[in-house]
Amino acid sequence: MMNDGRLATYAAQSKTSLGRTHPESSPAYRGEFQRDRDRIIHSTAFRRLEYKTQVFVNHEGDLFRTRLTHSIEVAQISRTIARSLQLNEDLSETIGLAHDLGHTPFGHAGQDVLNDCMRDYGGFEHNLQSLRVVDELEEKYAEFPGLNLTFESREGILKHCSLKNARLLGEVGERFLNKHQPSLEAQLTNLADEIAYNSHDVDDGLRSGLITLKQLREVELFNSLYEDVDEKYPDLSTRRKIYEIVRRLISCQVVDLIETSKARIEEVRPGTIEDVRQHHESIIAYSDSMREQNLAMKRFLRENLYMHYRVKRMSTKSARMLGELFNAFMSDHLLLPPEYQTKIREQQRELGDTGKARIISDYIAGMTDRYANAEYSKLFDPGSLT
Ligand code: MG
Repeated sequence: MMNDGRLATYAAQSKTSLGRTHPESSPAYRGEFQRDRDRIIHSTAFRRLEYKTQVFVNHEGDLFRTRLTHSIEVAQISRTIARSLQLNEDLSETIGLAHDLGHTPFGHAGQDVLNDCMRDYGGFEHNLQSLRVVDELEEKYAEFPGLNLTFESREGILKHCSLKNARLLGEVGERFLNKHQPSLEAQLTNLADEIAYNSHDVDDGLRSGLITLKQLREVELFNSLYEDVDEKYPDLSTRRKIYEIVRRLISCQVVDLIETSKARIEEVRPGTIEDVRQHHESIIAYSDSMREQNLAMKRFLRENLYMHYRVKRMSTKSARMLGELFNAFMSDHLLLPPEYQTKIREQQRELGDTGKARIISDYIAGMTDRYANAEYSKLFDPGSLT
């Protein structure tokens, strides 16, 4: 068994892990969470993240974040926070790399339309889909379906969940019913996700020209950093000023999160990971003022970037495409690739249309942006060759 190093008593530890659904012997030279991370990196769903969108569609430019680069940034920020709090860096990295595996093509527009399409068949949640990817959809190992990750990794991947779905998920769903918390590693990765996307959406938003420095300076958090940088480096090019501000934006949020969480840990004094889980609220948190500044930044991005007419046009078009693909496959599943037809034949006797819809939703959710575009052309463009 690997030694997890100098971890706090309330950190997640390999040796006290609640284990895997299908029992396996411990890896020879790795900890349990290192093995989880490695399985994620070698998964098909992870490789597809390279061609899935956050805000900008994949073909809009080579410099924008994709879900892959986003996930790597989340893992990096998570590791920093975990290490500074003596928490399990391997587990935080694992959750960071895996947290978006269930995302549809075309960002949130894709998730919303798939949820609409699946309304009568159990709905679609990207968090739940991430868990489904690691629990079932990756077919790589001889002895079990999915990646057979530890409970702690699965607990961290399932950030949110409706109560209805939580009841169907067994032990990993229980905390939503009992109002318990996940590990500190899961809590911090959740906030690292926010820090990453807020900061890189500022960066990508400026690069795309959809938002301007002048607009951003209306946001307090951004403006104070802008003034510091501008005063210290008045002659620096705008592009480098923006980089300098974005790195400070990440850093000040990370530092606030670490310091606030350290103080809260001292106050709550959890002895073990179970104490963390039983606590009535999340222990990892921003200070009140940072939380407010953060919300203001989110509000700004929603109003000015995510609702920008050019982003809106792209997301509406993408949603329409996915909706039409879903309907076409539902009305004639013989349009699906043969392996999905086989899955439907196997499940339809038992689960009927609900089973069929879930398989179609898995197929669509697994698509990259460009694969979805190509499928759409093949099905709807008379001039396209199949
Ligand atoms: Mg994310």
